[in-house]
Amino acid sequence: MTTIPSLRCPVCENLLKLSTQTPGLDATRYDCPRCGEFNLTGSLVQQLSRFFENDKEACWKLSHAIFKLQENGQVPMVKTHDIPSMLESPLPSPLKQGDLLIQWLAESDNEIGKFVPLEDKTHGAIIGATSLNGFNWVVLDLIEKGLLKKSHELLGRIHVAVSMKGLEHCKAILSKQSDEAMQHSAMESSGKDEVLPEVIDLFARISKVFITDHERKAIVLNLGKEDVK
Ligand SMILES: [Zn+2]
Repeated sequence: MTTIPSLRCPVCENLLKLSTQTPGLDATRYDCPRCGEFNLTGSLVQQLSRFFENDKEACWKLSHAIFKLQENGQVPMVKTHDIPSMLESPLPSPLKQGDLLIQWLAESDNEIGKFVPLEDKTHGAIIGATSLNGFNWVVLDLIEKGLLKKSHELLGRIHVAVSMKGLEHCKAILSKQSDEAMQHSAMESSGKDEVLPEVIDLFARISKVFITDHERKAIVLNLGKEDVK
């Protein structure tokens, strides 16, 4: 494996943890503290500056989109033809950014009450922040609303944990998403069996409850009956 001497992330310009040639492919694998782990094809690396010239928010949109691609635990391979659709989606609104951060904290494997050091350099892509000030504004607003608890600030990092009120807020977000999924599946007359188990798993993770496959199927079945009433 040949190490590519790239020090900064080609997407967000943060100092990289690692960059190596992707084995057997004309691509580079990056490990960025903000964007996460991802591969870019060689031709995309050469053309990235063109996308950045045409859209001043391109780096933040790509950083957020690449982070989302890793939600299933995969390390994505991003190609040039993926970029236009990634840039088409607008960045999340400030309200949505707050919801994304609370959800990420609640769904992560952190034990309840454990304080996590947050900063734009490492967590900005989760919410699609475009600046350090914008990221801190979202975090401080969530603290002010009582959705996050703050222990202290050190070296620009705000140490926070989700409060009980924050967990309730997450459940309300998921409940809304569940309702929207039900409405969508009612319109489509299909897809519920694919969407609902995901929502149920999210509820379980936030509530720190283990759900077996059998229990998940029973919940989907019961929700289906509720739908018919
Ligand atoms: Zn990056």
